[in-house]
Amino acid sequence: MPSTRFADIAWPDARRYWLVNARVPSGLLTDARAFTAKDAEDLVRADLLVEDGKFARIEPTGDTRDGTIIDLDGRQVWPTLIDIHTHLDKGHTVERNPNPDGTFLNARIATAADRPHWTMPDLRRRMNFGLRCAEAHGVTAIRSHIDTYPETIDRSWPMVRELREQWQDRIALQAVSLCPIDLMMGDYGDKVARTVAESKGFLGGVTRPAEGDHAATPKNIGEQLDRLFQLAARHDLDVDLHVDETHDPLAATLPHIAQAALRHGYKGRVTAGHCCSLAQQSESDIDRTLDLMAEAEIAVVTLPTVNLYLQDRATGRTPRWRGVTVVHEMLKRGIRVAAAGDNCRDSFYAYGDHDVFDTFRQAVRILHLDHPLTFAPDLVGATPSQMAKLDGHGRLTVGGPARFIVFNARSLNELVSRPQADRVVFAGGARLAAQVPDYDELWSDDATTDAARVA
Ligand SMILES: [Zn+2]
Repeated sequence: MPSTRFADIAWPDARRYWLVNARVPSGLLTDARAFTAKDAEDLVRADLLVEDGKFARIEPTGDTRDGTIIDLDGRQVWPTLIDIHTHLDKGHTVERNPNPDGTFLNARIATAADRPHWTMPDLRRRMNFGLRCAEAHGVTAIRSHIDTYPETIDRSWPMVRELREQWQDRIALQAVSLCPIDLMMGDYGDKVARTVAESKGFLGGVTRPAEGDHAATPKNIGEQLDRLFQLAARHDLDVDLHVDETHDPLAATLPHIAQAALRHGYKGRVTAGHCCSLAQQSESDIDRTLDLMAEAEIAVVTLPTVNLYLQDRATGRTPRWRGVTVVHEMLKRGIRVAAAGDNCRDSFYAYGDHDVFDTFRQAVRILHLDHPLTFAPDLVGATPSQMAKLDGHGRLTVGGPARFIVFNARSLNELVSRPQADRVVFAGGARLAAQVPDYDELWSDDATTDAARVA
């Protein structure tokens, strides 16, 4: 008998219901021990009982189930996803702040020119827009880096606190300070660390000088990192850095970061984003750096869509490099790697919609996370969930909140072959009605409407 068409499935509004005959990537289950039978793509067949907004049971398919039953006929159920590296405060400025040639240098210049426009209403409107896009796509946890400069810190961080509270039942929002780390050498560093601590954030920064591209390695990098880790330790903050985002192999701050993490007792507490230039260094240099990273238990976030866009770009010349770091080699060493969306419709990346599933699909292609596809889902689910201590997101857990996505795809190949625009997102056990906001909301003069829409 042919199965029910996806569009014809009657989604439940009951307090208690079973989803039966689902497929789930085994890595996206918190506890997969009961699932002994996996297919060639490491998918398991599962029945999931949703009760009072939580997963009451997740079991191998087989037993007879009672009550309201939705037969998924082998379609996939995923947990809602995590976007562990974004820039909500820069998002959706692409029209008013165009990057003339798409290069990193002009992105930096254009962003600096746009920052004076970042009033509280402007930040509120654009960040809310980004959060609403993410929610509609099935993202329930976001870590955003926040430009933290003397002229913006007193607006951006109060906005982070406001939005985190406003969104706490819908999206878990984490925030990381972002400025060149040499800016933190003086008194300003104390202010940044204090502000981050008061906001329960992460201490971040970019390891290039304030006035430069990611060229070479700053001579006093050890001293700068000592200052950063001292500030972090003083307030007991985890660290999340923008690292070596360039093609230039001379930019090699990553081994210094690993050494500083070990020096300061920060093993397992540091995340490094980008790490592009590592892929341009010699095999022996790569090996040495990966050894240090493994020892310091540095976690890595690769941003494949944005680095594909920014790296190896010169007007009139075809790029020869995909811009990404050595992800396979890292995974082989046991280094944790997550994939994330990074910028969205701003001068660093002209496109995007805060859809980490789209990032995942593109990551598979850009990074060759396939043949087999088995380990790829972890990069947007289980791994960032562990890295960011985001229980209840990125993995399906008995007793955890019933936040999940149903895809009209049975195999991982079907899943990554289509954009999955018809995916169905559930929050608190109920189908989510949220749709992506219309672009015209970004052009509205009345910034207060955004606050009203969120309420
Ligand atoms: Zn970034």
